[in-house]
Amino acid sequence: MLIVQKYGGTSVGDCAKIANVANRVASVKKEGHDVVVVVSAMSGETDKLIGYTKYFNDIPNAKEVDRIVSTGEIVTSSLLSIALQNLGFKAVGLSGSDAGVITDCVHTKAKIQEVNHQNIDKYLKKGYIVVVAGFQGISTDGDITTLGRGGSDLSAVAIAGALNADLCEIYTDVDGVFTTDPRIESKAKKIDKISYDEMLELASLGAKVLLNRSVEMAKKLNVKIITRNSFNNNDGTLITNEEEIMEKPIISGIALDKNQARISMVNVDDKPGIAANLFTSLANSNINVDMIVQTIGRDGKTDIDFTIPKTDLAIAKTILSDFEQSSQSIEFDEDIAKVSIVGLGMKSHSGVASKTFGTMAKENINIMMISTSDIKISMIIDLKYAELAVRALHCAYELDK
Ligand code: ASP
Ligand code: MG
Repeated sequence: MLIVQKYGGTSVGDCAKIANVANRVASVKKEGHDVVVVVSAMSGETDKLIGYTKYFNDIPNAKEVDRIVSTGEIVTSSLLSIALQNLGFKAVGLSGSDAGVITDCVHTKAKIQEVNHQNIDKYLKKGYIVVVAGFQGISTDGDITTLGRGGSDLSAVAIAGALNADLCEIYTDVDGVFTTDPRIESKAKKIDKISYDEMLELASLGAKVLLNRSVEMAKKLNVKIITRNSFNNNDGTLITNEEEIMEKPIISGIALDKNQARISMVNVDDKPGIAANLFTSLANSNINVDMIVQTIGRDGKTDIDFTIPKTDLAIAKTILSDFEQSSQSIEFDEDIAKVSIVGLGMKSHSGVASKTFGTMAKENINIMMISTSDIKISMIIDLKYAELAVRALHCAYELDK
């Protein structure tokens, strides 16, 4: 097999931890597999490097920033390579550029365009363990670029996709993806297998194990991901396509998002073009609207409720001032939470909505907005009931069993 392993900053946090990683990599190589390792900078290193760049100027030149920040991963890749050589293996450290990771020219948030993997292939053929510096590439203009914070996950998935690897293992310091945030529900269980689409819907649950964008990329490139803990030998969570998940659970997990705000426009003129204008204006300011609910019109008026990220509320307020004429009032509510239940089995099971809303009713929690897809039900509720709702649903769907 060809296995790509990615180790995050905490897993390579110091030289002793890098030695631990070297042992793990070595054991896979000894089983006869080809191994490409992608590494992050040692934890705290990227922050430190970014700190240096801001000493002279709050907005330093992005091209220079990329040259500086990319060194964090280069250090780890060569340290791990040395550690592996010390164990008697052939190993080589490669920068993103050496590894053929080609990106666009947008410094500090470049996108990978392709991976020209001849150099990696050459070393693999000679029996080397290849250790690639994550988070970076070389632009089509020939400059060093970085992929945005947390970007080593993208490097790993892109390389796994290009090499047609059998597996991409993403190592962090947690055991995998859980049925809900264990800080909210201590009975949360580790999920063994989950589909790309469920994982994307449960983004907040995966936040500590991998970058959401890397799940999108894995889905596109059909790369199987396993997230695992580098400090134990537990199985982790497999993220793969739906067809590989035989027993589809009705509910796989419950996510909580406290970063949304609700905007209610009361008695808006019920005529063509209002919604189009409104949402075009928001989109032009790059505001991502999540849920939208419009009530049935009465007497030429209607209500439009929608949610946006809390961080965009200030801009949204200025945009909405242009729409004051066309509605009776515009209200803003920051004290809301979005609770979502996600599961593939919902597609083929009836009664999920009634059980979900029934659970909320039993706890006396009012549902302000609802949105659904074929694998998800999301509800906007009062912020103060957020944790209660998560625990009640976790119990109702027996995710603790
Ligand atoms: N070292 C980079 C960061 O801290 C990339 C990564 O760890 O994935 O964001
Ligand atoms: Mg990371």
